[in-house]
Amino acid sequence: MDDVKKKLVERGFSGDLDDSAEALEFYSHDASMFELVPQLVIKPKSSKDVQEAVKLVAEEKKNNPDLSLTARSAGTDMSGAAINDSIIVDFNAYMREIISVKGDTAVTQPGVFFRDFDVATGDYLLPSYPASRDLASVGGMVNNNSGGEKSLQYGKTDSYVPALKFVFADGIERDVTPLNKEELDTKMEQDDFEGKVYRELFELIEKNYDAIKAAKPKVSKDSTGYHMWKVWDRETGIFDLTQMIIGAQGTLGFVTEVTFKLVPRPKHSGLLVLFMKDINGLGELITTVLKHTPATFESFDDQTLLLVMKFMPSFLKMLGPVKFVHFLFTLIPDGLQLLHGFPKLVLMIEFNGETEADVRRKIVSLHKELAPFKARYEINGFEEDPTEAAGEKFWIMRRNSFRLLRSKVKDKHTAPFIDDLIVNPEHLPEFLPQIRAIIKKYDLLATIAGHMGDGNFHIIPLMKLEDPKDRAKLLPAMKEVNELVLKYGGSLSGEHNDGLVRGPWLEQMYGAEIVGIFREAKTIFDPDAIFNPHKKANADWGYSFSHIRDKF
Ligand SMILES: Cc1cc2nc3c(=O)[nH]c(=O)nc-3n(C[C@H](O)[C@H](O)[C@H](O)COP(=O)(O)OP(=O)(O)OC[C@H]3O[C@@H](n4cnc5c(N)ncnc54)[C@H](O)[C@@H]3O)c2cc1C
Repeated sequence: MDDVKKKLVERGFSGDLDDSAEALEFYSHDASMFELVPQLVIKPKSSKDVQEAVKLVAEEKKNNPDLSLTARSAGTDMSGAAINDSIIVDFNAYMREIISVKGDTAVTQPGVFFRDFDVATGDYLLPSYPASRDLASVGGMVNNNSGGEKSLQYGKTDSYVPALKFVFADGIERDVTPLNKEELDTKMEQDDFEGKVYRELFELIEKNYDAIKAAKPKVSKDSTGYHMWKVWDRETGIFDLTQMIIGAQGTLGFVTEVTFKLVPRPKHSGLLVLFMKDINGLGELITTVLKHTPATFESFDDQTLLLVMKFMPSFLKMLGPVKFVHFLFTLIPDGLQLLHGFPKLVLMIEFNGETEADVRRKIVSLHKELAPFKARYEINGFEEDPTEAAGEKFWIMRRNSFRLLRSKVKDKHTAPFIDDLIVNPEHLPEFLPQIRAIIKKYDLLATIAGHMGDGNFHIIPLMKLEDPKDRAKLLPAMKEVNELVLKYGGSLSGEHNDGLVRGPWLEQMYGAEIVGIFREAKTIFDPDAIFNPHKKANADWGYSFSHIRDKF
């Protein structure tokens, strides 16, 4: 890579170029179970740096066909999409400026951490934040089309990005916004790479219009494939290229600036918590809860709860002493509750409102209907009844269990390979026992937590991936889970996206015709294959499997 480094400097690249052993080791992992050691890490300081890097790789590709670029922001990707064996472009090192915040509109560079962005946006909120809200960047959220606990009410990141700046494969940054037909026609007449992309993509979508529209997954959240059904709409006459880029995992080009449309931050909220000893009656319960249109409807299982209790010291390290003491203190009433029998599922139902009375009315109304389940509730962090639990601990368990698992539980490691399935909630009473049966069949120690209201579950097995016996379980278990999800009309990923882990199964989900269209679209954007190879529609299980970590 000395040659590439030299040429980048000659082109005026102003950021860092790092091929130290420590950097290559650090960037060879994200939060997935894969490992790919890069040859060079570059840390651009500006969009100009990004553009020069893309131009250089596009030129050098002829002499060095294996050269490629993979974007990385905070590197919390669970699908293996933020790693690569060539060049990593780290947006989180310098490109973290929040350019402007005016009311409900914020313009920012992609590398900023969500936690910093969230402070800067004041009375407004980007509501699609993931459970990794303390770790992830907004650029990663855009490129994974992330969602989280508030997606039930607000949807995912693709609903909050009216404009992007995007570096195309010719190394030029351009604005991307929705266009009307007249504006699209003008774009398509351009005699440059951008004009070609619009022209060819429009033709591809027009030619396969009905098939593409019909391919849209029939679930409330999805992060698989390319969302081409959202790009061109004959009825509205709108052509929206942002919808192609959001969730593309940096396989089409690089996002250098994002405009976000925000929502007013909810003023008051309250949480209702339910411990379910068995899941009989879950179907009816889900229907009842959803009728009340809660802001969030989350859950975690007995394994998560057991894990939190078993690994209290690790939790202490992760949360810090103050939060941990608060956590323990507030756990006491629930500890007593647990003496009555360990729950199979803990459900968390949150309501928001303009006033405390508003929230109270909503919670009390659902609470009455759920009387047989003995639900507890609190409003605005103040306990409704002193014997009732404070809600924060449930959020801590829900949001941090994966982090806890990742911090090496004895000799086992997190193996996120069936971590993000989604089926419509009405199927859950039938679906969940079958998922549990597969987990049992393969003798996987796994936690299940997720977004009950959307039917989106994160199943995180703990395995010894370096042991061939455990590794041999991955493919058959994944196949069984995928078949089950697809039998119920679900999607393989509600939020975490495809990367190396789910990309290989897109054909199983969409069929060969649609995946062929995805590949054509990728080639339109990236004719020389310079962006994030082996991910999404170009993933292959043989390749992915051969890059599973064997050292931890
Ligand atoms: C504990 C934990 C909990 C999680 N919970 C959730 C959850 O609830 N919901 C959810 O959606 N995800 C979740 N994730 C996955 C991940 O944290 C999110 O998807 C997050 O938004 C990724 O942000 P990041 O900055 O870490 O992105 P990265 O990992 O750096 O990158 C993600 C993808 O975006 C691409 N990318 C990054 N920057 C750019 C750019 N500027 N231009 C083009 N492409 C780019 C990368 O190449 C990669 O493909 C979780 C992960 C962990 C570890």
